[in-house]
Amino acid sequence: MRDAILVLNAGSSSIKFSLFADADGTLGLQCGGQIEGLYTAPRFLARDARGATLSEKRWGEGERLGHEGALLHLREFLRGELADFRLSGIGHRVVHGGLEFTRPVRLSAEVLAALEKFIPLAPLHQPHNLAPIRMLLEGAPEVAQVACFDTSFHRSNPELAQRFAIPAELHDAGVRRYGFHGLSYEYIASVLSQHDPAAAAGRTVVLHLGNGASMCALDGGKSVASTMGFTAVDGLPMGTRCGAIDPGVLLYLMDERGMDARAIEKLIYQQSGLLGVSGISSDMRTLLASDEPRARLAVDLYLYRIRRELGSLAAALGGLDAIVFTAGIGENSAAIRARVLADADWLGIKPSARANAKGGPRISAARSRVSAWAIPTNEELMIARQTRRVLAAS
Ligand code: AMP
Repeated sequence: MRDAILVLNAGSSSIKFSLFADADGTLGLQCGGQIEGLYTAPRFLARDARGATLSEKRWGEGERLGHEGALLHLREFLRGELADFRLSGIGHRVVHGGLEFTRPVRLSAEVLAALEKFIPLAPLHQPHNLAPIRMLLEGAPEVAQVACFDTSFHRSNPELAQRFAIPAELHDAGVRRYGFHGLSYEYIASVLSQHDPAAAAGRTVVLHLGNGASMCALDGGKSVASTMGFTAVDGLPMGTRCGAIDPGVLLYLMDERGMDARAIEKLIYQQSGLLGVSGISSDMRTLLASDEPRARLAVDLYLYRIRRELGSLAAALGGLDAIVFTAGIGENSAAIRARVLADADWLGIKPSARANAKGGPRISAARSRVSAWAIPTNEELMIARQTRRVLAAS
């Protein structure tokens, strides 16, 4: 019987899953999908590795399917898929590992309690990431579980890159720059040498441009700086998050508009970014297709902020050998990539318009001093790899 690893990524309204077969040291995707719209209009969709639909279901609004019901449905579906496999363990995406968890960890009640302490650091993600872990520890304690963190990869950042200029006591209490999207960056770092060994050994900026967006400076494959900080709201403007904002703005809103922490949270996480500036959509495809001046402004601001962060990260690295685009926008939008590349001409990047329009992977011209790439990320595979490593060692 072959081994299999299940990967779960639980958010506030969805649970995504991927099942990997583990054969002869290779992890091969068997199937994957998600249950979305939890608590509102839930729907389940599972596909095989070639994208063919395996199973679909919709629940009525009155049925109030939540995380627990979703896990039960998933278990029923996976019973069939796992008939020929032995489930060796479940790997979970967990957004915050604090300072303590610098690598993936086997889960126990004690580890879960330690991870619950980070809920105030990521209140919109961490509780949902931990919910299925708790349910499985209680309901199926015989199943091995591993937590894989979005923050761990950035623990290699030098002290200066992790520090805010605030009193030391606050820094020591954990108020520092953590960085996120680490599973995506670690995956890109792991495959870059296949494309560009010199860049993999050198200085690279990776642009993870999805609904959430950040950029990371890699030196020899290690993270040395990134645009996200204490929370996943810092850095670039995103679909609905504002990115870097003068903290004085937030004080002003509290004093002059009477906004409290929850109202500000809603503003900076859900009402800002591409959606807030355009007033139209958080979806880059919609904005690129729109003639509205406000849609153009949102895209221009997004690109302006990328341009400035690219300069900042190149400065942190002391030079640049390559840049890599990944995630929804980075992988699929030739138009956004073309504009980022044109803005980066001063850094020695010469794009190949034809290769960029085709989607890469190499999108720079042969004469370009700095190479440019479009490489699909695979956070689920990274979680499966980490899970296998932890289980093999325990
Ligand atoms: P992700 O969070 O990685 O799934 O990325 C979601 C984002 O990718 C959304 O803003 C989508 O609009 C964007 N996206 C996906 N495909 C394209 C495309 N062909 N052109 C522009 N944006 C895209």
